[in-house]
Amino acid sequence: MITENQAKALASLLHEIRPRWSAPAMLKLLEKNHTHPAPFADIAAAAVSAARDPLIDTPGAFLHDQRFWPQETRKHLPRPAPCQDHIGEPAHQCRCCNADYKAGIRPMDMIGRHYDPPNIYEPHIEDNKAPANAGA
Ligand SMILES: [Zn+2]
Repeated sequence: MITENQAKALASLLHEIRPRWSAPAMLKLLEKNHTHPAPFADIAAAAVSAARDPLIDTPGAFLHDQRFWPQETRKHLPRPAPCQDHIGEPAHQCRCCNADYKAGIRPMDMIGRHYDPPNIYEPHIEDNKAPANAGA
């Protein structure tokens, strides 16, 4: 369980540790998971451990990544939600979404969620015309 005060405090602490994780985004994530069954002390410890891990990119990864939780809390963790775009991948650490994010074709907040990227290769009529010097 996460109260509003706890969420605010933890969101700004995580932002201090990991500047790329904005406090408002972290607050939103913590609010969304306010019914988490673990005690707040364990949630805070797991979140800080994840923020200190340079291999962790996704802010919400700690919620399901068992490595960050005390042994006795692990069995109470909720099952991770599946990625909305990639079958068999957990939403919080979808490898496909992370690859898209690193390639710059998926925003970080769309990792694990359905995302339709803008089609930058959409053909335009002008592009189909032969160049002026064609056949010259
Ligand atoms: Zn995915």
